[in-house]
Amino acid sequence: MTVTSLPDFRQQHSRFLKAVGALGGAVTRYPHPLRGPDGEMLSTDVAVIGRADAPQVMLIISGTHGVEGYYGSDSQIAWLEGLDGSQLPPDVALVLVHLINPWGTAWLRRVNEDNADLNRNFIDFANDIPPDTGYSALHSIYTCRDLDGDERAAADAQMALKCAEMGWNGVKRIVEAGQYQYADGIFYGGSEASWSQQILRQIITHHLQMARRIISFDLHTGAGAYGHPMLLAIAQRPYPALNEAKRLFGEWLTVIITGENGESDTGVTATATGYLSQFMLDQLPETELLQLVVECGTYDGRDMHRRVRDDHWLHLYGDVNSEQGRAVKRQLFEGFYPADPDWRALVALRTRQIFQRGWEALQQ
Ligand SMILES: [Zn+2]
Repeated sequence: MTVTSLPDFRQQHSRFLKAVGALGGAVTRYPHPLRGPDGEMLSTDVAVIGRADAPQVMLIISGTHGVEGYYGSDSQIAWLEGLDGSQLPPDVALVLVHLINPWGTAWLRRVNEDNADLNRNFIDFANDIPPDTGYSALHSIYTCRDLDGDERAAADAQMALKCAEMGWNGVKRIVEAGQYQYADGIFYGGSEASWSQQILRQIITHHLQMARRIISFDLHTGAGAYGHPMLLAIAQRPYPALNEAKRLFGEWLTVIITGENGESDTGVTATATGYLSQFMLDQLPETELLQLVVECGTYDGRDMHRRVRDDHWLHLYGDVNSEQGRAVKRQLFEGFYPADPDWRALVALRTRQIFQRGWEALQQ
């Protein structure tokens, strides 16, 4: 059994800045109002390598789900370290959004400071928020006061009953679709545009809207088969640049069209609303934008659900600094970034291949 040691946010941040500095990149910092668990300053940092007004951009976003940001940041750093700064193509810039949910990365949470899942939060809260599609009948499972004990046993029994009724996939379709009714619930989409959504809007204005063409990667882990990175395009409806994405990546690319009746066997939830991907497409209608997601599979879906559920308990009722709290965090981190060196090597290789193909396409 591998023992997972917990990562260090400060170290991750400084490794990123060092790699950007070595290429002479420009960094814009967007400070977060809250601090990390060790009192550290938090920020989303945007690094631009190349011309700020380059017509072609490769964009890489890490940490939409905070705890997944260590994989994302490591992938950004590895890509920077592999670039030859003296031979950057003149019309292409690399834009790296380092940790769009820095609070979640620092605190080792999938969600942000509002308990909101950012990939459910990218909706327009001025319009009607999505209705409850069955989560309320399951909510009490996720607010039981025990991690292990009588209440947890009762909640597990209720979960088993629901799974017998509609199957695990039926439960998952409802719960992981997200909900906007319970701020203390799981897969909560929030009640307003999150700090991260507002910052991403600014990043688009300052760094992206000048580009004519963008290939964009949003980096994730935790869904799909162990050690198998998937390349996905997630959108509410097909869009013109999807054909270019299919031409470029062929069979490697899986398209997920989301919606109430959305189906996907990838482990990524097609019933969900509020994906960052759709937000990017909506914000940049004039840009030829290939909005892609890299999703690296780790543990089985039910196992992952338990790890996320335990972490949800920890932040509702537990103490993150207790031995029990650290054990929950180790489980969560291992779930989203397995320590297994073979897993890490596979994922690093595949992520690099995906970036490479995008980078070459921009230079043609
Ligand atoms: Zn994710």
